[in-house]
Amino acid sequence: MPWFRPRARPQSRPIDDALWRSATAAWLFMRGLTQEEHARLKALSEGFLAGKHFSGTHGLEVSEAMRVEVAAQACILVLELGIEWYEGWSEIIVYPSQFAPEREVVDEAGVVHLTNDPMAGEAWLGGPVVLSYEDVALAADEEQRVDGYNVVIHEFAHKLDMRNGDPNGFPPLHAGMSAAAWKEAFSTAYEDFCRKVDAAERLPGHRMQAALDALPMDPYAAESASEFFAVGSEAFFETPELLAPAYPAAYEQLRQFYRQDPLARLG
Ligand SMILES: [Zn+2]
Repeated sequence: MPWFRPRARPQSRPIDDALWRSATAAWLFMRGLTQEEHARLKALSEGFLAGKHFSGTHGLEVSEAMRVEVAAQACILVLELGIEWYEGWSEIIVYPSQFAPEREVVDEAGVVHLTNDPMAGEAWLGGPVVLSYEDVALAADEEQRVDGYNVVIHEFAHKLDMRNGDPNGFPPLHAGMSAAAWKEAFSTAYEDFCRKVDAAERLPGHRMQAALDALPMDPYAAESASEFFAVGSEAFFETPELLAPAYPAAYEQLRQFYRQDPLARLG
């Protein structure tokens, strides 16, 4: 029997320097990164690209620039954790714009509804990350973007949360972190945030919108504890100057979890 050495998978897929610079220039979360952190983020992104497979839908050709944009935004979350946090799955599916899969949803009364709400992204337990490219590109559009909205950070935060099962806003914590402190910080912040969203939604039209816009993060965070963690992660990296004063204890837990301090980087 001939014996074949298993072909080693490449550990890294080099990213062109000019492409890297143009892809990463406009993102809010890049503010204040040192040269060393910048270089490490690029190296991590190169490792990410070697291990993940992209496919486009509806005729979308996923270009090298698009891959680099997704890789860099995904890797900012694991800059101090390591690429292993994204192991165990490999598929990234990119839609040209928002997608509306037909789903059966069971409500609190046990009634099954068919929904097809448009989605910007989705993360599956043990499966793919699905992204709308229109929404991925929005984070780099200084004219159009809503600061703090970043679909890639959002979906990859769900992936980190899923390292210990179904997403519940409770990712595996590091040695030395306290589960009780995490729970206390997040449940207090979540309840306060839900109260603020409810109060805003009771206001008439234009005042409601103004009150929702004044919140320290996207009102979608009120959906569930897992969405609060994902939206909170977007705010942590993109608008820490809004999140930290509003929810200092939750910010501190995220700082310990991600082992980064985006607020301090702003100086
Ligand atoms: Zn989500």
